Amino acid sequence: MKFLFYPAPAHGHVNPMLPLFQELVSRGDEVVVHVTREFEAAVRHTGASLRLLDDRLTIPSTLSEGGSGTPFKQLMPMILGLMSQGLREAPRLAEQARAEQADCIVYDPMVMWGHAIAGLLHLPTAIFHTSFALSHSPTLKRELKKTMKGLPPPRALLAMLELLWASEVFHWRHGLPRMSMGAAFEAVEDLNLIPVPRTYQPDAGLFDERFLFVGPSVLPRNDRGDFPLEQLDGKPVLLISLGTTPMNQRPDFYAACFEAFRDTRWQVVMACGMGVAPATLGPTPSNILVRQRVPQLDVLQRARVFITHGGMNSTMEGLWHGVPLAVFPQFGDQPLNASRVSELGLGVSLTAHEALDPKVLRETIERLDTDPGYRSRLSGFQRELREAGGHRRAADALQQYVAAHQGQRRKAA
Ligand code: UDP
Repeated sequence: MKFLFYPAPAHGHVNPMLPLFQELVSRGDEVVVHVTREFEAAVRHTGASLRLLDDRLTIPSTLSEGGSGTPFKQLMPMILGLMSQGLREAPRLAEQARAEQADCIVYDPMVMWGHAIAGLLHLPTAIFHTSFALSHSPTLKRELKKTMKGLPPPRALLAMLELLWASEVFHWRHGLPRMSMGAAFEAVEDLNLIPVPRTYQPDAGLFDERFLFVGPSVLPRNDRGDFPLEQLDGKPVLLISLGTTPMNQRPDFYAACFEAFRDTRWQVVMACGMGVAPATLGPTPSNILVRQRVPQLDVLQRARVFITHGGMNSTMEGLWHGVPLAVFPQFGDQPLNASRVSELGLGVSLTAHEALDPKVLRETIERLDTDPGYRSRLSGFQRELREAGGHRRAADALQQYVAAHQGQRRKAA
């Protein structure tokens, strides 16, 4: 079978699909991934083939020099802009996709061009979510709305108008339904793969059999580089990371972490993100290792506690390794993960006030490490994560889905 994949060109969206590519390839299927150059090595490592997208479609991991406003205000127009760009390119990409003569399209709901191409090609289509499924969850919709209150900044409003226009043009030319950011996140296909176990998804009972809660897929990623893992063999390891989007540009928080953990029993590994130069954070305490990016899975294997922004991948990867989480959410689905993690007793949620207070931070991490309740609940949850089936169950579902379509077509012929 031949599968065309359209992940969003961002680490948090490509990483969770890599094990599925690898699994399908190992079963003899052909996997073609449409992504930007930044992800070439990671995708090729799985054995999948690559079709390079225009670099302008990459979701940026740093903000442009001299940009004004908070990272979120700068990020929003960029994301909306690349959605419009992708929509404009969709007809050309659809022609390329047609020539592939594939059996199935799989897209991330954030990727409007994947959705549009699927609409133009009429192939069996599946969605690969990289976070909760939103479509049938009133709870999530309500909570997400709360995190997006207030008027968007003017540049984002302009970018929204541009996206509306791109969608309108696409609708007139191709007769497909109009698209919007909201509709994209709520898109539903006949098969929808969700990277969390059913018990973690709010309103799970409202999702029908088209939704498969396969849970996360965590496999080694071969991204260790020259990171000195051997330095993590002595003291207990604390991992700190706010993910890969520009929302990780929080020097104030990194300074609070320096203050909280210098000269303590912890060996801290801190990923400060591509937009913050470690040297600008001042003298690094000797028990803290700072890099812009760290091999997160390798570090989690050795970690006792994880301070995370609560991106879905980081949350699931931490829980997969049985590591209690202190979640300091920045935007999007992160406050939802912070709530779920604390509701389930798998960690705590930190307010900005708490996260910036070194004493509170230090005491919270001590409590997460020493209260045995966290680790016992985590081991139960780890079982659920593994039982959800991950990339193997996702691959089974995709193969069965395509086989069922092929069977129907043969019957009709
Ligand atoms: N990641 C990594 N090293 C880092 C920071 C992040 O390998 O220094 C990986 C992490 O393991 C996860 C992804 O990047 O797979 C981040 O995804 P997530 O959904 O947690 O957050 P996002 O970056 O999308 O906000």
